[in-house]
Amino acid sequence: MKFVYDFTEGNKDLKDLLGGKGANLAEMTNLGLPVPPGFTITTEACKVYLDSGQEPAALRDEVSAHLSALEDRMGKKLGQADNPLLVSVRSGAKFSMPGMMDTVLNIGLSDKSVQGLAKQAGDERFAWDSYRRLIQMFGKTVLGVEGELFEDALEAAKTAKKVTVDTELEAADLKKLVAKFKKIVKTEAGRDFPQDPREQMDLAIKAVFDSWNGDRAKLYRRQERIPHDLGTAVNVCSMVFGNLGPDSGTGVAFTRDPASGHQGVYGDYLQNAQGEDVVAGIRNTVPLAELEQIDKRSYDQLMQIMETLENHYKDLCDIEFTIERGQLWMLQTRVGKRTAGAAFRIATQLVDQGLIDEAEALQRVTGAQLAQLMFPRFDESAKVEQVGRGIAASPGAAVGKAVFDSYTAVKWSRSGEKVILVRRETNPDDLDGMIAAEGILTSRGGKTSHAAVVARGMGKTCVCGAEELEVDTKRRRMTVPGGHVVEEGDVISIDGSSGKVYLGEVPVVPSPVVEYFEGRMHAGADDADELVEAVHRIMAFADRKRRLRVRANADNAEDALRARRFGAQGIGLCRTEHMFLGDRRELVERLILADTEAEREESLKELLPLQKKDFVELFEAMDGLPVTIRLLDPPLHEFLPDITELSVRVALAESRQEPHENELRLLQAVHRLHEQNPMLGLRGVRLGLVIPGLFTMQVRAIAEAAAERKAAKGDPRAEVMIPLVGTVQELEIVREEADRVIAEVEEATGTRLKLAIGTMIELPRAALTAGQIAEAAEFFSFGTNDLTQTVWGFSRDDVEASFFTAYLEKGIFGVSPFETIDRDGVGKLVRDAAKAGRETRPDLKLGVCGEHGGDPESVHFFHEVGLDYVSCSPFRIPVARLEAGRAAS
Ligand code: PEP
Ligand code: MG
Repeated sequence: MKFVYDFTEGNKDLKDLLGGKGANLAEMTNLGLPVPPGFTITTEACKVYLDSGQEPAALRDEVSAHLSALEDRMGKKLGQADNPLLVSVRSGAKFSMPGMMDTVLNIGLSDKSVQGLAKQAGDERFAWDSYRRLIQMFGKTVLGVEGELFEDALEAAKTAKKVTVDTELEAADLKKLVAKFKKIVKTEAGRDFPQDPREQMDLAIKAVFDSWNGDRAKLYRRQERIPHDLGTAVNVCSMVFGNLGPDSGTGVAFTRDPASGHQGVYGDYLQNAQGEDVVAGIRNTVPLAELEQIDKRSYDQLMQIMETLENHYKDLCDIEFTIERGQLWMLQTRVGKRTAGAAFRIATQLVDQGLIDEAEALQRVTGAQLAQLMFPRFDESAKVEQVGRGIAASPGAAVGKAVFDSYTAVKWSRSGEKVILVRRETNPDDLDGMIAAEGILTSRGGKTSHAAVVARGMGKTCVCGAEELEVDTKRRRMTVPGGHVVEEGDVISIDGSSGKVYLGEVPVVPSPVVEYFEGRMHAGADDADELVEAVHRIMAFADRKRRLRVRANADNAEDALRARRFGAQGIGLCRTEHMFLGDRRELVERLILADTEAEREESLKELLPLQKKDFVELFEAMDGLPVTIRLLDPPLHEFLPDITELSVRVALAESRQEPHENELRLLQAVHRLHEQNPMLGLRGVRLGLVIPGLFTMQVRAIAEAAAERKAAKGDPRAEVMIPLVGTVQELEIVREEADRVIAEVEEATGTRLKLAIGTMIELPRAALTAGQIAEAAEFFSFGTNDLTQTVWGFSRDDVEASFFTAYLEKGIFGVSPFETIDRDGVGKLVRDAAKAGRETRPDLKLGVCGEHGGDPESVHFFHEVGLDYVSCSPFRIPVARLEAGRAAS
């Protein structure tokens, strides 16, 4: 195996082997651009070293061969006393890990060669300054000396001289400093600073290898989900100097503006300086455009090179360069980071320039970037007072008066106030308040808590689990760290993208992209926003490419209409339990409490027309498109009052000797229905099987609604979905009954309805027996929320707030499996169940309606396993469309 590559031997596609920096240095070298000569030690060499604790046997000889070739080319030897070749030793992994790993510059300087450098450069100060930088960097990164010791000594030297900046230290001062630095190395590292240049180089290479497993680097990789076994490459590059006088300097540049995407001259330049000085902000840089006045030749050459790079990489590149006495050198380039908006613009600009095609343009943007563009944002330049931070549960920027109960939220918002609903946690009772509020803030609960899920569904800003905030709903106030009390009516601002909570009003900027999806702003109009134009075009590319259809999770006509505007091709999940709340609650209570069949039938009869009306509206909004209606799922106790509150009410009434029979009955029912694990209890199809008439009523409402729409010349496409099925027998029983009711409605109305009946696959047993279940189901919709919960044995309501943070910190997973599908576990069940289902019934329709349906990475997975559609909340639809397009191109 070959462990060392000259820059002339590599290319940009060898990032696995040469790391990002090495691959791009090689690419630039081969493009004929001025790159200081050098070579790259591969990640393979690093891996051998990390695995065995020893460098590969062949490495030393290979490095020697490449070093002598480099010395021949440069006409000087590493560390040569009268005219030293100096090199930098830089880390460079496949993925950029900014500042995480080590770099040592000026290798090759010693007590002898520093004199030679001074003579060659005609600049004594420069030579000694370079030497002290080497000892400092080498001491710190290679020999493990505390960096502050060097910094303190440098400060002391400045103080002694009564100067404030490094550049005011003269050669004599720096000489003294070098002596001091060497002493520090000797005491702290227990050895002399090595005078042998080859020893310096070898030790530095080893230090770079070791830095792969430094604590900072490990933490960064875990957070960024970069695998731990990639290793880093090491680049050995001949030094060029930007600090050799006014005709020298160093800078950074972008081939176009990373904020707007516009072409032009973007970057900074610092005269008479080395790279670290720019980063350290020691002196002020000037805009790159000024380089034209300072050094026109280098400037023109740089512009030419930037054009070459853009045309070559077909993308925005960022660049580091140095000018040494009028000679331009390229030190680094890579495809540059950019803002979300710029990503969309650049992708379309490059299509227009003929540099990339539509499929490639789709790879240049992400659903996460689109999501970012869709939320209103806080104006980042505003002055703010942050008082807490919770989980960023549903993005957006919301400002309003703090209210601590749903009732006040509704009342105040009706009178035109903007409010933020602040609760310890929310429950279905808070729904009205959540709808009325600008945003929701809770001090408990994680990303799948009630508040989070419902808020995401509504596209409403939500910060949850902000534990430092003490919410006191009784006294209608919350205490923030430091003791400040936010009373009802005080204005607060919450940022659902960062989880930050602020006191007072932070100004907000609306998203033009949402205005566009809503149809309030049009692409192609004279004054159209450039960003909107770009988004419009990219969405068209995605729609042309994608195979997956995209549906919405929506429970009412308003959401359905919005979903349609956003591009939904139907409803994949209508949760009927949401239709049982509000004013209808009393009816539902009566149903649950019914003692006799007659009483039960009475309340079902009253619910029927209400349900029917909901469905008529929904079918009308989605006319011509499929609407999947799921029969009632959650446990019944969710529709009854809270057990503690009710007990208090009963006790109070008792002590006051007031009549309380109804309350007492209710309390008994709550006790009767109480379950230790309601999520594993009487819900879904189980409910339908034990409460006679419930599912029948719902199916009848669906069938009658469809018949009514048909009579009105509409085109309803209803699908009935049975939740929480574990075995085909459950489905068969419900199906038989449903078929009977549908036939009855068809007969009575004289209409042929063609209602499809299918099931959710959300229990492991259902997935494992999918082949049997498909015999009774015309479609499957994977309920990946419950499936994740039951496959992992994680409670979706609790874990994110309890131990997920620890799991994420320990790298057990990089992201919650409730957010991104766990491919190996839950995903395997989905893949296998889809296959088994289709073996039984080749035309089985397959979809997913768990939260994962709107998650970018999961959408790619669902594309791969051959589902027909994903269903997600209305606001996620553009993201799902885009990702489905990306997955297919
Ligand atoms: C699911 O379990 O994935 C699902 C969509 O149903 P719900 O979230 O309503 O349980
Ligand atoms: Mg479910």
